[in-house]
Amino acid sequence: MSTALRRPVDRLSEPFDVVVIGGGITGVCVAREAASRGLRVALIERSDFGSGTSSATTKFIHGGIRYLEQYDVAVVRESLRERRILALGAPHLVEQTQFIMPAWRWSKPATPLIGAGVALYHTLSFDRNRSAPPSLRIPTPRWLSRNDLLGRVPWLDPEFLQGGFAYHDTLNVHPERLLLAYARSAAGAGAVLVNHCEVTGFDTEIDGDVVIVKGVDVVDRLDGRPHRIRASVVVNAAGPWIEAVLGPIGRRLGVGVDRSKGVHVLTRPLGGGEVKDAVFARARSGRHVIVSPWMGKSFIGPTDTPMQIDDPVTCDPEDVEQILETVNSTMSPVERALTFDDVELTTVGVRPLIKVDDATDAVRSADTYSASRRHELYHHLERGVANLWTIAGGKWTTARATAEDMVDELFVHELSHVKERSFGSRTAPAHGTFAWAEDAEPFLVEASNELIAAGVAEKAAEIVVRAHGTDYRRILDLVTIDQRLAAPLDGTDEIAAQVIVAVVDEGARTLADVIDRRLIAGTTGRVEERTLRAVARVAAPVLGWSDETIDAEVDRERRRREVIDAHWRTRRP
Ligand SMILES: Cc1cc2nc3c(=O)[nH]c(=O)nc-3n(C[C@H](O)[C@H](O)[C@H](O)COP(=O)(O)OP(=O)(O)OC[C@H]3O[C@@H](n4cnc5c(N)ncnc54)[C@H](O)[C@@H]3O)c2cc1C
Repeated sequence: MSTALRRPVDRLSEPFDVVVIGGGITGVCVAREAASRGLRVALIERSDFGSGTSSATTKFIHGGIRYLEQYDVAVVRESLRERRILALGAPHLVEQTQFIMPAWRWSKPATPLIGAGVALYHTLSFDRNRSAPPSLRIPTPRWLSRNDLLGRVPWLDPEFLQGGFAYHDTLNVHPERLLLAYARSAAGAGAVLVNHCEVTGFDTEIDGDVVIVKGVDVVDRLDGRPHRIRASVVVNAAGPWIEAVLGPIGRRLGVGVDRSKGVHVLTRPLGGGEVKDAVFARARSGRHVIVSPWMGKSFIGPTDTPMQIDDPVTCDPEDVEQILETVNSTMSPVERALTFDDVELTTVGVRPLIKVDDATDAVRSADTYSASRRHELYHHLERGVANLWTIAGGKWTTARATAEDMVDELFVHELSHVKERSFGSRTAPAHGTFAWAEDAEPFLVEASNELIAAGVAEKAAEIVVRAHGTDYRRILDLVTIDQRLAAPLDGTDEIAAQVIVAVVDEGARTLADVIDRRLIAGTTGRVEERTLRAVARVAAPVLGWSDETIDAEVDRERRRREVIDAHWRTRRP
């Protein structure tokens, strides 16, 4: 079965076992799990795969050490188990990273308590190195003396600094690409995935007191055409938008999520670019930031601000200010404080958190910062709606586990009559993975050399092999046939062949789809108009864009980016 994402809209008229609403990491993992276990699956995403919360993360596949403060041990343990599974399943897209948790004399919690937390975190990851190659083995945490710490992270404020705890977690190098890899695994297992298609309602029938869901109504946002999709069961995996998707049905179901806005900023590298470790710094204010060295820069965040359902998802000047204030307050006076001018890019996402009212355990809390990151599956039959489930909460890290739970439930309830195919998602590599549980480095070097021999510049080759994994061969074929496709796209280190693959194999339909979620250009810095135009020119013949359409698309995308940028840069008096 082809793993290509080709928007097979014509197949939406087929009957499905399950329709998944939402192409974030949760929906994509459900589609992969369900299709791999033998179900006929359609996944509908109103915008692009991963364009919601799933591309706005801190870029870590992690246990979430700070959730230990909320005694959320179950979430931490599950996440640590998943951290290992994801790392072994896509070693080209995940990397072990050393984290430093600095301890100042004024730190809260106090240093011994931080140490106890780090030790417990490590203990909970007891299976961390099972089947792991040396490059993915997680070492035992250690205490770094003040001098050692300042040697590694010179930007930290030395005053009252006692030292720091060093422990490991896993970097999700390009979450957009890893999500895409799972989407392609789902397609390879037979799922029909359609982006730019919006679920607008449910096809229902009333039987006494019960509303029976028979499918969903959708509108293709590219041509405006409506479709009705028939399915035995519908899974609502729309993240922060689960209530909006439920519409009027939702009123009798009473489900929802608490929303919390999370912002990150991308800045010049702190410490001059030599720092390898991520720093989990908690300031005197009690706020924390994670400063990650990423793509030669510093990726810093997140914020955690409760928001209402109708609040716009925008990065505001106050969000940037809060991050800069927090990180600056942990910095050495020798390091130049970060200002708005150092910020190249911001990301913003909304956490879909379990509603506080629904919390049934010890993690009840009134603020989103300390809210549980566990997931919940709502079976709406309990409230008189048949054939409908909603997923709330969860993390990127635990999406596979959430999906496994969800599909287990489907086989117990609505789809108990369907013959299940055996599939072990815990040991199944993501699409594009060179080899499960093997060091990716030798593969990456070899693949990169092949591309270089075919005329691809070294830097581009490095990006391609990491981002595309085994699909580098597709790029290799393209540049072999047409050398012009090895040319760098104006203003980036990436090449034209990647744009072809984005549009032909990876379902990209807009400039933002290509630049922000297929290439890495949109995530590593500000994108200039010449890059938009270069991408548009390569994509145009495949997408059937005329010269006028190219101009219009470039103009629209340029303005969209300017609005986002101007919004957070314009400080209120
Ligand atoms: C700032 C921040 C940092 C984070 N950092 C991490 C981290 O480092 N590690 C980690 O594990 N987790 C992290 N998380 C949590 C993680 O990102 C989320 O839990 C996860 O991405 C949620 O995925 P999702 O698929 O449920 O939601 P989403 O990714 O939001 O997907 C829902 C999708 O549904 C679609 N949709 C909505 N309405 C419709 C409709 N009517 N029809 C069709 N489609 C529709 C949307 O377009 C969207 O793409 C972070 C979250 C935030 C906000």
